[in-house]
Amino acid sequence: MVQMNNFLFDAQNIATPLMLVDLDDTLFQTHRRIVPQTDFKMVTTDKQGQALAYMNPIQQHFVQWLLHSTHLIPVTARSAEALSRVHLPFQYGAVCSHGGTVLNPDFSVNVDWHVQMQQALTSYQERQQILIDALQQQAINFGSIRTWVVEEQGLGLYIVAKQNTENDNPYAPNFLPELLNSLSSEVLEGFYFHLNGNNLALIPQPVSKANAARFVLQQFASQQRPILGFGDSLSDVEFLNLCHWWGMPNHSQLNRWVKHNLTQQYKQEGFYGDYQ
Ligand SMILES: [Mg+2]
Repeated sequence: MVQMNNFLFDAQNIATPLMLVDLDDTLFQTHRRIVPQTDFKMVTTDKQGQALAYMNPIQQHFVQWLLHSTHLIPVTARSAEALSRVHLPFQYGAVCSHGGTVLNPDFSVNVDWHVQMQQALTSYQERQQILIDALQQQAINFGSIRTWVVEEQGLGLYIVAKQNTENDNPYAPNFLPELLNSLSSEVLEGFYFHLNGNNLALIPQPVSKANAARFVLQQFASQQRPILGFGDSLSDVEFLNLCHWWGMPNHSQLNRWVKHNLTQQYKQEGFYGDYQ
């Protein structure tokens, strides 16, 4: 035991923090969003085995520190298959497919969670196809999209609508918000939506990163371990709020939102504080 600044610090008795972390645009970026430099490190590959996403040197050091200092649990929109193409040594399981899938530490599918999802999504299976048909029908008025259902073990989890832009450029102007707003509330009922560049996810409400993260955290509840989180998107906030502390990268959707809304709120109120 060592004495540190009047705190009794027992190095043998530290509960390793759990770190719930989003992956894409939190720990790395695809080459469509950044131009890889010589000191960048390839971290994910596409289905053909080609380099897809990279970490800059600072991201590399951050991830090394996370892997060394925490029990790192990815909480990602990636399917289990897409997660298998992230070349980082995760050892404590994962939340995949926006929360539709939980993986055990050995990366097998968690059957308890899968059964819960099967039950919750029974009524959505037919409605997902109806929604895809409606998207394709409405897209005739806007432009070219491709749509698919992300499945796990034969269970349809959520829908992706991707606008076909030149070189799949996520920064190209896109019509996805207008397309979404043109659909009837009836066909959209029970879904929520996450727009990320030229990629729109239409997700049944039972499928959520927060629901799945809550399920994962239940097994650690009695351990009084610090729970930390990182994410880049507004849709990450719900799972991040399960953490004792959480953060976001600079240059992220979430950080842009905080900066914008803080500025607006300050202008309106005239002070920093707990606004009513
Ligand atoms: Mg992200």
